[in-house]
Amino acid sequence: MNKIVSGLTCAAMVSMTVDCGILGLKLLNGNKNILTDSCVALACLAVIAACAVYKVFHSRCPRCGIPMPAGGKYCSRCGQKCGGEG
Ligand SMILES: [Zn+2]
Repeated sequence: MNKIVSGLTCAAMVSMTVDCGILGLKLLNGNKNILTDSCVALACLAVIAACAVYKVFHSRCPRCGIPMPAGGKYCSRCGQKCGGEG
């Protein structure tokens, strides 16, 4: 599941970067029809935010319950291994 979330974050970031580039080019060319691109950029931002929230709330130590740093495999307090499952 964590791999899916990481992949989703990565894809959303790439999409948003590309979309912002397109949006910038449109604005430079005087194209005011940027509603679709704005919506895509916003959606990507929402996906990134949702993934960040998911990571924060799903990376807790199963033993003592303190929040784990993103990508951390061992609890900094009790040393419980947290990666690999789920
Ligand atoms: Zn712990």
